[in-house]
Amino acid sequence: MPLSKRRPFKRPRHVPATDYEVVIVGAGAAGLSAALTLGRCRRRVLLCDGGRTRNFPSPAVHNFLSRDGIKPQELLRISHEQLDAYPTVEQRQNCVSEARKDDETGTFHLTLDSGRQLTTRKIILATGVMDILPTIEGMHELWGRGVLHCPYCHGYEVCDQPVAVYGNDKSVAGFALLISRWSKDVAVCTDGWTKMSDHARHRLKRHGISIHEQPIQQLVGRQNKQLRCIEFADGSKLSRYALFIHPTQKQRSDLADQLGCRRLQRSGAVWVDKRVQTSVVGVYAAGDTTPAAQQALVAAAEGAQAGISCNEQLTREECA
Ligand SMILES: Cc1cc2nc3c(=O)[nH]c(=O)nc-3n(C[C@H](O)[C@H](O)[C@H](O)COP(=O)(O)OP(=O)(O)OC[C@H]3O[C@@H](n4cnc5c(N)ncnc54)[C@H](O)[C@@H]3O)c2cc1C
Repeated sequence: MPLSKRRPFKRPRHVPATDYEVVIVGAGAAGLSAALTLGRCRRRVLLCDGGRTRNFPSPAVHNFLSRDGIKPQELLRISHEQLDAYPTVEQRQNCVSEARKDDETGTFHLTLDSGRQLTTRKIILATGVMDILPTIEGMHELWGRGVLHCPYCHGYEVCDQPVAVYGNDKSVAGFALLISRWSKDVAVCTDGWTKMSDHARHRLKRHGISIHEQPIQQLVGRQNKQLRCIEFADGSKLSRYALFIHPTQKQRSDLADQLGCRRLQRSGAVWVDKRVQTSVVGVYAAGDTTPAAQQALVAAAEGAQAGISCNEQLTREECA
């Protein structure tokens, strides 16, 4: 048996027998990072992923220390490859469809979409969020290239270009002012919303930001999926290089609800304490699913914290 697969101790009798010590649901930046931490602790881990990461449509990951500009799929490939070195980490392409806690033992029962059932002592939810885009023609097609959501991820790439900011509520003015740090040519498009306050209009005007309130007909893109122009229902057009938008979000999975984890009312994010444990003992959460800044590096950091918290709690239970 390779040195790394040897366990330093036997499971004490008072610790319940389970298939895994930790199951990590989701293999984006958060889940992969948690798996790395736990693999290095020689914990029996199952890492399951049943789909695509949130940034899949994007050509590059930016603002990720030492990996600035890497393709999202390449970042995942390297992370999976490096995990292969840790024999106690099992990686599976499966969706976890059901989860429940056994209150008597404090362990968890999970069901995979394959029908397989398994047990674990701890769970890390790294399931991310989904972006729900407005139903405007061209929006989905250009998402991740001509339609962007985050200036910290993509602002630098559209520096000094004519850009637009989409929004039909009062948050649009603040978002446009933020974007104006990257470009002097910013236009707000409210898509038929006309209730912007005079104060907000005045602030935008003072910073040279124009306001277009007519409904949008469609977004017209280029072959490379950059934006060419915004066409309005009244027939007018606005030539733009990119459109920024804050889409509505939804948790990617309902496992937090199945387990009874508390969620924040406004954002729907899964509440966590400073050790990234949710309101349900033994369930941890990391990455976009929590209230932290939605950045790949932050997700990775939270994943590492979840791994450390799980390992330390498991150790406490074993050494009781
Ligand atoms: C278009 C776009 C571009 C972006 N660009 C950048 C950027 O340049 N820099 C940056 O820092 N951030 C960027 N982000 C944000 C970044 O993608 C997220 O912050 C990051 O992906 C969060 O990682 P995560 O692991 O929490 O979630 P994700 O990466 O979304 O991973 C969650 C994973 O969990 C899986 N999953 C969900 N439910 C289940 C289940 N029940 N069973 C099994 N698996 C499940 C999903 O399939 C997914 O693979 C971008 C986001 C978008 C939308």
